[in-house]
Amino acid sequence: MAGRIRNEDIALVRERSPIADVVGEYLQLRNAGGGNLKGLCPFHDEKSPSFNVTPARGLWFCFGCSNGGDVIKFVQEIDHLSFTEAVERLAAKAGIQLRYEDGGPTPRRDAGQRARLVEAHRVAAEFYAEQLATPEAVVGRRFLAERGFEAADAEHFGVGYAPREWEALVRHLRGRGFADRELVTAGLAKEGRRGPIDRFRGRLMWPIRDLSGDVIGFGARKLYDDDGTAKYLNTPETPLFHKGSVLYGADLARKEIARRRQAVVVEGYTDVMACHLAGVPTAIATCGTSFGGEHIKILRRLLMDQDEFRGEVIFTFDGDSAGQRAALRAFEEEQKFVTQTFVAVQPDGLDPCDLRVRYGDAAVRDLVASRLPLFEFAIRSRIGDYDLDTAEGRLAALDAAAPVVASIKDRALRQMYAISLDRWLGIMDEQFVLRRVRELAARQRPAARTNGRAGGTGGGGKSDRSHVVL
Ligand SMILES: [Zn+2]
Repeated sequence: MAGRIRNEDIALVRERSPIADVVGEYLQLRNAGGGNLKGLCPFHDEKSPSFNVTPARGLWFCFGCSNGGDVIKFVQEIDHLSFTEAVERLAAKAGIQLRYEDGGPTPRRDAGQRARLVEAHRVAAEFYAEQLATPEAVVGRRFLAERGFEAADAEHFGVGYAPREWEALVRHLRGRGFADRELVTAGLAKEGRRGPIDRFRGRLMWPIRDLSGDVIGFGARKLYDDDGTAKYLNTPETPLFHKGSVLYGADLARKEIARRRQAVVVEGYTDVMACHLAGVPTAIATCGTSFGGEHIKILRRLLMDQDEFRGEVIFTFDGDSAGQRAALRAFEEEQKFVTQTFVAVQPDGLDPCDLRVRYGDAAVRDLVASRLPLFEFAIRSRIGDYDLDTAEGRLAALDAAAPVVASIKDRALRQMYAISLDRWLGIMDEQFVLRRVRELAARQRPAARTNGRAGGTGGGGKSDRSHVVL
């Protein structure tokens, strides 16, 4: 075990790790006056910012959850690291060579586990990227070319190739001083009959990075027909990689997401690439899981979503039932976010990658521009199944769609959509439609979950309104 890091080195790490920059990698900060910055706290769920940073003193404090400390404490908390690991991580970023009380620079093998696993991923990503140029990887290069990606694009996103061997990567990492146990823990290898074997073989590899840019996992696409395993494989859950809270492309997109106050959620790695290359640099994707609560929190922090500071989250779907279900599920999440949620339905079911290949960059930008508010999308999806040419069909569609409208908590918004619903159905009787929605809302309201947080976050009128029945 390595000794204590020297105090003077710890002080140097603090000095060379500007707190606003480090915190700014995880959440959007804005000026709060008096030399302070504020943003949405990453450690508790909130809608208006109570997370404060004082760059001059190198400190942060959250008035919501009373968590606070210096830059090292922040890194410890946000990435679940020990003190030593946090210092090592900041030192690596700042280019500081740490010295330990035992004397001499510590060999890398003594560094904290997280640093070791991150380093293994960095070396692995480099290895895979180099392999993409080998003769064997021609299938991978063809795959990329057919999807409109050039060598420079692959390089920009760090796309690589995992050779069709049992232990190409294992050998390479052993040669760099990594222990078999570390490779298995990292999810880069798995136990075979005679020791660890490469987890990914004969696949195109996308490095998945955390917000600070460290590679923490891989997404892998199968390339060979005789490969009987799943089309896409991801790194399993590891100390570094938690698929529920990782967004592919977020490291590249986060600045633009903050600047444009927009995030575009697409379905795959190639879609993220296509969007970025087509001029939609705010695209991100989940990795082997559907979009969930943790993803929303990450985006909200990047968008610093609150009453006076609105952002948009645009989901792209091919319009199939899976996509619709995902959109409708958002209703069950909190509605404050839903009103900023949009849906862009892909024409002819073409995902952004196919769209770009077929119709060019402008078509991808058009797809994003053609977004519909989630409420409108949800209501129109419901009425799409009915024949609106008959009175019976219009009534049935009304009964199908009214519960969706009735579930809108914001009273004014509910009223607006009730009026729109009348127009979309062609009933031409707003009062009739409003009455139907009102009846349903009255029935739904007492049973609806009460939102305990709504009143206490300083949001004001909007949350109060949500409990009033039409
Ligand atoms: Zn907090």
